[in-house]
Formats: sequence, structure tokens, C-alpha cells
Amino acid sequence: MAAAAAMALTAGGLGLTQATATTTAPPHAAAAQAAPDISVEKVQGHLTELQKIAEANGGNRAHGEPGYKASVTYLQEKLEAAGFTTQVQEFTEGGATGYNLVADLPGGDENNVLMAGGHLDSVTEGPGINDNGTGSATLLETALAAADSGYKPTKHLRFAWWGAEELGLVGSTEYVKSLSDDDKSKINSYLNFDMTGSPNPGYFVYDSANEPEGSADVQKTLTGFLDEGGVEAEATDINGRSDHAAFSEAGIPNGGIFTGAEEIKTEAQAQKWGGEAGKAFDPCYHADCDTTENVDEKALDVNADAIAKSVWKLSE
Ligand SMILES: [Zn+2]
Repeated sequence: MAAAAAMALTAGGLGLTQATATTTAPPHAAAAQAAPDISVEKVQGHLTELQKIAEANGGNRAHGEPGYKASVTYLQEKLEAAGFTTQVQEFTEGGATGYNLVADLPGGDENNVLMAGGHLDSVTEGPGINDNGTGSATLLETALAAADSGYKPTKHLRFAWWGAEELGLVGSTEYVKSLSDDDKSKINSYLNFDMTGSPNPGYFVYDSANEPEGSADVQKTLTGFLDEGGVEAEATDINGRSDHAAFSEAGIPNGGIFTGAEEIKTEAQAQKWGGEAGKAFDPCYHADCDTTENVDEKALDVNADAIAKSVWKLSE
């Protein structure tokens, strides 16, 4: 999650009209394939590795620092080994090279793509484990589960980990800018996961009210699977503070899950979700204490399952 001051874009722009992809269900369409349960231990294992990467590289995984590139390498090796086709997109920000990691699961209709992403960079102040190791690790484990389970979605599945989000959504903006209008029209929806395990968690789903047509379906799907996981989510307006913003500007349906940053949990939210009222959802937001200790296991787990189920549902 970028600081409010780093907001580079205003959400809700409709520069392009999203073409409606017309697909017909294959006649042999099998019964829906269910998403596997995502192992929270495996997600936590990736968080431990990201923490080690920060410790070995000056304490952070920030844009332009060696811990960022090492994070990209860690994910890329796992994705390649699982059978993903990966690409590293380079860009320049503040005189340093930045990297987006994009991974495609071979198969599915490449003219009808479901994309899911989150930022992989931390701020320079700390290792960035909740922000955004959590979203990054959950996306990684979801991707690996899709490959390992032999999932054959009707849509094409693409995952992305963005660079330099904390400097103003730079990587995701560069990616969307690199797409032709035709490429953009092939993206059915984009799901964004930035902070999914805040220590005093909230359960928020991005509000689709001012978003491109189709976003309401994403919101409904994420909210429904959180409900199935036992939590009543609230809609929230992220106001262009994360990487869905560039997709929104391009007219692409989008949505996401967020467990809260520097904002304060209310009394009503504490009653509904547990945790402490009057305290920030993440007291270590953008601080050196954003370590593996700064993650709520239940939030990480519930969100990981809702995320995987939504990726399956929206790509089936
Ligand atoms: Zn952040």
C-alpha cells in the first residue's frame, strides 16, 4: 500500500471502453473445478524467506535495493519450476532499474485473461512483510496451487508482482502503459492484493461503485468467499493507493482485498472482527517492525482461501 501522499492516479477514470469478451462455453465443459485449500503454513514459509532476503540485504526489499531483485528471483524460480512462463519487465525510476515479474499459466483463452497481482517492493524502512509480503506470498502460493492441481481454467491466468509501488504505483503503471488497446481489451478483470494479514486486521473489499463495469462482480465474488470463510467484509475505497489504479484508469474491471494500514479500527469493527479498537490495523505500517511477527495468521489464512476461490471462480 502506497502512502496517501504517493497517490499517483485518481481512481475511476474511464479512458477506454472495456470491450466485452464474447466467449462460448466449450461443449465439453467439465464440472467446475474447486480451488484447493491454500496452506497458510506454506504462505508463512514464503514470508520467512522474504524476511531472510531483507535481513541479508540491508533490512529491506525496496526498489533499487538488492533485496528487491532477490525477492524477484525467489518467486521467479518457484514459478518457473512449477511450469509458469515468466517475464521480467524492466523500467527506470529514480535512476534505478525496477522490475515487474509477470507469470502466465500456459493454457486457457488468451483473449480472455484473468489477472491477479500485488506489489513486491517494500519501503526502505523495513522488510515489508505485511506490506506487501502477505499479498505477494499469497499470490505465489495461489499460482503454485493452480499449477500443481492441474487446474484448467477456461480463461487464461496471469499473475504479476509489481515493482516500485511504494514510490507511486510505478511498476503497474508502466505495465499498463506497455499494453496496446487490444492487449487491454483481453484482460477480463484484474484482482489486487496489497496487505492481507494486518496484525489488527480489518476485512475490506474494494468498493466497485466508481469502477469500470464488471468490477461489481469481482467485489461480490471476493465478499462472498470471505463470508464463506466466516468474516463479514466491508467495502472500502482505496482511492488509487495501490496497483489496481492503472487498470481502473484503463477501463479494466478490478477489485481486491485489504486488511488495513495506518487507519484506526473502530469499536464496531473490533466487535465484528476481533482485535483492538482505537488502534491502527497495522501499527508497523511502513516501519522497521513490519516483520513476520507483524502478521495475523487467521487473516492471512482466511484471505488466502478467499483469494484462491475467487481466482478459480473468475477464471473457470
Ligand atoms: Zn506500502
